[in-house]
Amino acid sequence: MLDYVQLEADLGQEERMIRDTAREFVAEQVSPDIGEHFENGTAPTHLIPEMGKLGFYAPNLEGYGSPNVSETAYGLLMQELEAGDSGLRSMASVQGALVMYPIHRYGSEQQKERWLPPLGRGEAVGCFGLTEPEHGSNPSAMDTRAEQDGDGYVLNGTKTWITNSPIADVAVVWARDHSVDENPVRGFLVETDRDGVTTNEISGKLSLRASSTGEIDLNDVHVPTESRLPDVSGMKGPLSCLTQARYGIAWGAVGAARDCFEEARSYALEREQFGGPIARFQLQQSKLAELATEITLAQLLAYRLADLKERGDLRPQHISLAKRNNVRMARDGSRVAREMLGGNGITTDYSPMRHMANMETVYTYEGTHDIHTLILGEDLTGVQAYTT
Ligand code: FAD
Repeated sequence: MLDYVQLEADLGQEERMIRDTAREFVAEQVSPDIGEHFENGTAPTHLIPEMGKLGFYAPNLEGYGSPNVSETAYGLLMQELEAGDSGLRSMASVQGALVMYPIHRYGSEQQKERWLPPLGRGEAVGCFGLTEPEHGSNPSAMDTRAEQDGDGYVLNGTKTWITNSPIADVAVVWARDHSVDENPVRGFLVETDRDGVTTNEISGKLSLRASSTGEIDLNDVHVPTESRLPDVSGMKGPLSCLTQARYGIAWGAVGAARDCFEEARSYALEREQFGGPIARFQLQQSKLAELATEITLAQLLAYRLADLKERGDLRPQHISLAKRNNVRMARDGSRVAREMLGGNGITTDYSPMRHMANMETVYTYEGTHDIHTLILGEDLTGVQAYTT
């Protein structure tokens, strides 16, 4: 596997073990039929408990069954899962960074004990409801509302483009609390079998096809006060979760690009045209050299993020820079790898075109490429350019 400047030489024992476990899992249980899942538009849900057994959901958290592994180990895990498929990594990212993380950080003791162990084992599935039909890049304008009602809340609204929602047991729903002044955003843990909750699957996706994506429709849904995440209020709740998930994406995108590179390299060595392997042509070598260089630069960035995160110096803007760069790199690189595979490259027999299609989602979710550009622009100039 491409590791051109030997970054993996410095890994600790636990980090190697997690990388190897995830790599082997992908090789044995994902790669053989992920193309078929992609083609059929089905999520490999049978792998969810297996991934739980292997400790793939939020192993960087501490307690309640999570071992608190290093940020590098967590990043390597995301890298290996996304080398398999972005849909698989998305499933694990949502479960770990967008559901377990807010419960762990902002939840009550009772919420933590109820949800973290089964989510960690993959016996329960979670989803994260922030995006709405009319509010994507600007989620703070959300319409979903919570109103106090006796000893609980009533929730109304619609969330869309929600990874895992059709298969979820619990949804972290972000809503404006209309029972207090200024209507702060609050998080609620909503069991999906409550009256008034529907989670329809979104069909017709041409990207992330091996992942379940749906809506969450909330129609007069009653939840007890204990369902509210007690320790957070305001947009920092959902945004802090997105920071965790985007960190994983910055690593994950490298895995997808690396898989494209490996597929293109081995194809170039085997495929013969004009009397020998196409790898002997300078044009093909130039493409491989470019891919290897870009992947290596993205790897360096990911490893640096891990160091900064470990010592508490990682800013959301650092993650924006890395998510933005690494996903763009994977998006561009997958296309070049696809091209190197000729006609065979447009089938699900090979991974690059599947990764290429997936990257359209990864480029768009968790803050679009444009939005991360604006975050960096604001950080670099002090001038905010989201509006007008
Ligand atoms: P819009 O916000 O309408 O943007 C459309 C275009 O306008 C984009 O190119 C954007 O960059 C651009 N744009 C917007 N504002 C500006 C601006 N100020 N300046 C310049 N350009 C701008 N959401 C969840 O809450 N939970 C999930 O689990 C989840 N999973 C997803 C899974 C998939 C497969 C997909 C496709 C999306 C998922 N999302 C999820 C939603 C995702 O986060 C949103 O699609 C994303 O935030 C963009 O919102 P939008 O689609 O409404 O696009």
